[in-house]
Amino acid sequence: MRILFLDQSGKPGGAELCLIDIAKPYGDRALVGLFADGPFKDLLQQNNIPVEVIATQAIQVRKESSLLQGLKSLGQLAPLITKVVKIAREYDLIYANTQKALVVGALASFFSRRPLVYHLHDILSKEHFSQTNLRIAINLANHFASLVIANSQASKTAFVQAGGRPDIIEVVYNGFDPKNYKNDESEINKLQQQLGLQRKFVVGHFSRLAPWKGQHILIDALAKCPPEVTAILVGDALFGEQDYAQQLHQKVAELGLENRVKFLGFRSDIPQLMAACDLVAHTSTSAEPFGRVIVEAMLCAKPVVAAKAGGVMELVEHGFNGFLVTPGEPQELAQVIITCLQETEITATIASNARTSASQRFDMTAINNYIAKLLVSKFNSN
Ligand code: UDP
Repeated sequence: MRILFLDQSGKPGGAELCLIDIAKPYGDRALVGLFADGPFKDLLQQNNIPVEVIATQAIQVRKESSLLQGLKSLGQLAPLITKVVKIAREYDLIYANTQKALVVGALASFFSRRPLVYHLHDILSKEHFSQTNLRIAINLANHFASLVIANSQASKTAFVQAGGRPDIIEVVYNGFDPKNYKNDESEINKLQQQLGLQRKFVVGHFSRLAPWKGQHILIDALAKCPPEVTAILVGDALFGEQDYAQQLHQKVAELGLENRVKFLGFRSDIPQLMAACDLVAHTSTSAEPFGRVIVEAMLCAKPVVAAKAGGVMELVEHGFNGFLVTPGEPQELAQVIITCLQETEITATIASNARTSASQRFDMTAINNYIAKLLVSKFNSN
């Protein structure tokens, strides 16, 4: 099966990293069409996945855009759609991986008479999207997609609640290769030394810097923990959240935590950095659609504390393979951090349970096979 994947982003967020794993097995039978140039293109090339930047101008619509702003962008989209229609004729199906890719993919699917798959990586609710964008996404998916792949039950539920067709949607979790999360101890010691993390209790936060990802909650929690507790914040402001990044630095200074919080920016050595931590914290203040970082921490056999909402509740069972806390509550988070600092034996058991169950539930090969089966059964080709 030849697949034309579409993604709007030039930067590697969770949806883009997931796409790499899905597209890779198709080799030359796949093409990833991007609507922006950037480091995501380089990552695809490093993975030998054919890629083409098919839009030269960034599309101006944002998640919170109004109808008027959306209409204005239509003129901008016409040449892009024409280009995608032409490319799509060489492929068996169009696989839209993001919302703007859905808009372009839906129209291109209609004109090229190619079926459309929409991989839904979002919780389509008013918490995350404007009413206009919600309506557009649901209507396009309902009318043009033959299959919607939701990254969690939470994303599926929100889709259906917003009016999405329940008969076209399937839940498929992100897949991971457990091999990538096995770390060499001496390498980790070296990394800890480089980062000045030795003899500290290190809490890692791995996410782009964005207000709803809640890095500020971890900083507030840290101020309530003993002084040996240190945090590394891994990730950058990928989608224009520079003001928030600045606020975080300010907060750290105001609380006098300069020696206990390290901003590491965007990194590609996530498994190694996780292995250098004692605990991984996930602190989203809005419902997380899936939460790749949680599974990654589990595969590194690190205890994880996560904000109890959305897809996270499908990943973490409190007290068995991790800890759940109320979103936006630094006091509760601090309490879990202190428990992990003190109760090392229980915490190690929880981390070990997490690795075992995550390796089984999120195995990339099994998940890729399942997606392939879904595509073949829907589109009856090979
Ligand atoms: N990530 C990364 N480098 C960073 C920070 C994050 O590669 O500096 C990765 C992280 O390992 C995870 C993804 O970005 O695989 C984020 O996915 P998640 O589902 O947690 O959040 P999203 O970005 O999709 O909202």
